[in-house]
Amino acid sequence: MYTFSVNMTNKVVIYADHAATTPLLQEAFEAMLPVLKEVYLNPSSSYSFSRGVKQHLSEARVQIAACLNALPEEIFFTSGGTESDNWAIKGIADARASTGKHIITSAIEHHAVLNTCKYLTRHGYDVTFLKPDEKGRISRERLLHALRPDTILISLMLANNEIGTIEDISSLAAIIRSSGIAFHTDAVQAVGHIPIDVQMLDIDLLSASAHKFNGPKGIGFLYIRKGVQIASLMDGGQQEAGFRAGTENVAAAVGMAVALKNSCAKLDNVAEKLRKMELIFRSEIREKIATAVFNGDECFHLPGHISLSLPGISGEALLHILDLKGIAISTGAACNSQSVEISHVLKAIDLPTELAKGTIRISFGSNNNEEDAHIIASEIVKYWRKVCQLSGKG
Ligand code: PLP
Repeated sequence: MYTFSVNMTNKVVIYADHAATTPLLQEAFEAMLPVLKEVYLNPSSSYSFSRGVKQHLSEARVQIAACLNALPEEIFFTSGGTESDNWAIKGIADARASTGKHIITSAIEHHAVLNTCKYLTRHGYDVTFLKPDEKGRISRERLLHALRPDTILISLMLANNEIGTIEDISSLAAIIRSSGIAFHTDAVQAVGHIPIDVQMLDIDLLSASAHKFNGPKGIGFLYIRKGVQIASLMDGGQQEAGFRAGTENVAAAVGMAVALKNSCAKLDNVAEKLRKMELIFRSEIREKIATAVFNGDECFHLPGHISLSLPGISGEALLHILDLKGIAISTGAACNSQSVEISHVLKAIDLPTELAKGTIRISFGSNNNEEDAHIIASEIVKYWRKVCQLSGKG
């Protein structure tokens, strides 16, 4: 009998941290089970029995491609968003090293992109980190200004994981369309949450991760436009058309495809539900805490995604107070024994330190309801009033 050493009894009553991860969709779980139990053959084996396994993989690829208006052969399975980002950036850098060594990204990317770019700076590449405006938007002017004759790659995220801002990627990608520069977008927070059409976005590479849209963890994909030259990240066998070595996780690919198909089919309904929760939350906080600041672009942001800053409080203390009540959210600053580490995103949008320290992120999902929005808002207001009283401001 397998026993867990961690305490699994600590129950979450309201989970509002869907930007961190999402629960596995029941239909995805059910689609994965028979594959895990019965379809154990290696898809690369030559005997006829493994034809069914190959079929599962290719159907998953077809379904995923259909959700993005891509071709099935443009979808490559990876272990998740981090690998997809690493592959896109290192793979293009490697394939185009003789053309140039300049890469453009932004200061608000996920660490999977930022640290990959930093790695490349230690290997002879030059990286420009574009500064966003105060809402987290990257301007066309800044991108145009950063372009150089040796620029080989632009990597800009579709939606920000902390403040939820959605970038105007198609308009940014249009700038370089005829230049031969590759355009990658980290769409890990966006896939399954907003409509995505790779033709309309006009990008060359797109990263996604299944656990962000109710699929299983440890699987994702990289979209690579047909004809784009890219080096592989891992050396080994001939899986994924020779571009991504390693025996495929067939069950996870099947689960990811089911989860994505389901998310895309329900996109509008879920977004409407999430926007309602958001509205309730935002108006209750605004009504009761006059100094509250909502970060990001309120018009173009992920549905149900809220970044809230409260001056004079510690976001981390608030997280722990909510934790005790069974509510799971996240913060924009992490404390250690000596200092408070403010997130690179909040720094890049020039949020004053006092507000950054008091920043929390709430990301609703389709399992939440309007009552959850009321409860979280009222618990935050309660805590806020208590802090104000104790500090003599209330
Ligand atoms: N990119 C963004 C924008 C993310 O939010 C995340 C995860 O939070 C990642 C990349 C990494 O994805 P994964 O957890 O699948 O490695």
